[in-house]
Amino acid sequence: MKIAILSRNKKLYSTTALYEAGLKRGHDMHVIDYVRCHMEITSMRPAIFLGSTKLEGFDAVIPRIGATYTFFGCAVVRQFEMMNVYSVNESVAISRSRDKLRSLQLLARKGIGLPVTGFAHDPRTTDALIDQVGGAPLVIKLLEGTQGVGVVLAETRKAAESVIEAFRGLNANILAQEYIKEAGGADIRCLVVGGKVVAAMKRQGKEGEFRSNLHRGGTASIVKITPEERSTAVRAASILGLNVAGVDLLRSNHGAVVMEVNSSPGLEGIETTTGKDIAGMIIDFIEKEVKEKKGTRTKGKG
Ligand code: ADP
Ligand code: MG
Repeated sequence: MKIAILSRNKKLYSTTALYEAGLKRGHDMHVIDYVRCHMEITSMRPAIFLGSTKLEGFDAVIPRIGATYTFFGCAVVRQFEMMNVYSVNESVAISRSRDKLRSLQLLARKGIGLPVTGFAHDPRTTDALIDQVGGAPLVIKLLEGTQGVGVVLAETRKAAESVIEAFRGLNANILAQEYIKEAGGADIRCLVVGGKVVAAMKRQGKEGEFRSNLHRGGTASIVKITPEERSTAVRAASILGLNVAGVDLLRSNHGAVVMEVNSSPGLEGIETTTGKDIAGMIIDFIEKEVKEKKGTRTKGKG
């Protein structure tokens, strides 16, 4: 198969791992910097170019779209879908997962356990918003933040009011969330590939840090997850329509709650922690889907 990894940087661990795993299985692998692509939106003949080269003959793409380029990256993925190229995660699913509020709404609708979350626009609702999530301490998040940036723990009501006011002053969309204190600065990352949890790790924030992101100095270890946690992770990925996903759970007093679902989960932490070849599993999954002519469900319609 001719497979394109849509990634800005060949040297990133995840990109290299997927590239190598594809080569090892005899595929014709390409890394394409999607930000440098341009698209031709012509009636019935959608095309995509990198410089003057027309990108043709691909069987599958693996989107690794960075948070900064969600809008453009999803347009590139959609263009491939319109050209009948299989994308392991569809563009609509990626856009859904990038908006924390939209994702949580979709998960809530299907009964997935979530931290109590509130969203509002009008500054006059701040008081009600804080009350809704159980008062201080509470977590305030930028809707499109990533790697822990824009996630704030407000210990007191006063602090929460100031943070909300500051974010609103910057015209940023935020949500307020119940602080799951009992998680102890740790979360569980479940790696879902093709409807199965293929690996899981526990991430612990560094001393004095409630955010467990590895990019913020968190450390990872192997964890055994319960059957409920496993099924929650699988259902969350499926509700958002993601074949490959990193589902983050918090262990709360009322069971595991989904905190977020990532559509381009990093592979380095999970592969080194668990010793599993996740990149290989992703390529194996794509082989199976393409062979069964699954195609993307939306064909770029979304
Ligand atoms: P990002 O997309 O920036 O990673 P997250 O929503 O995953 O944002 O939050 C970053 C980290 O903050 C999480 O990994 C978790 O450790 C911590 N965290 C987020 N929300 C909560 C919460 N409601 N209660 C407790 N800890 C939280
Ligand atoms: Mg996160």
